[in-house]
Amino acid sequence: MTPPNEYELYKFCPHCGKDLHSETINKEKTKKCESCGFIFWNKSKPVVSVILHNDGKVLMIQRATEPFKNYWVLPGGFTSYLEDAETAIRREAFEEVGVEIKLQKIIGTYLIDNDPRGIHLDIIFAGTTKDEITLHNEDLQWKYFSPEELPDKIAYKHREAITDWFKKGSKYD
Ligand SMILES: [Zn+2]
Repeated sequence: MTPPNEYELYKFCPHCGKDLHSETINKEKTKKCESCGFIFWNKSKPVVSVILHNDGKVLMIQRATEPFKNYWVLPGGFTSYLEDAETAIRREAFEEVGVEIKLQKIIGTYLIDNDPRGIHLDIIFAGTTKDEITLHNEDLQWKYFSPEELPDKIAYKHREAITDWFKKGSKYD
């Protein structure tokens, strides 16, 4: 699944409606409006995920919808406008699996270049919870996995992040 390149998609200035023209600024391909000066910068979007662990096992949920229908993922999602990553992952964990989480550390950031919705930068935390898991109806099921029994179908870069956590504790160790 190749994500759409927004650089290729946008043709008109969102401010004044005139044509956008390609322009390379500091080696970045941008789209610029000659009329009002607006520049479209082609940036990744931040997403957040959490490795919620218990007794050396990691909580994963199975997606019921596209993209990556039936794939297993860590709880998480997009950051909202004016929301920091910690607030976003607490909100997403509560929405998706109904738990309050205690955040421990960031495992790493992972570039997601295989999502049809676009290019994302996944900020992945480790954390714990004392609450019962209650699945949101968007997802099919949840399960705690040990490192030896991870499912075959894992979306995004979540296998890489879980492996980093199991082997080293974080991407930086
Ligand atoms: Zn314009």
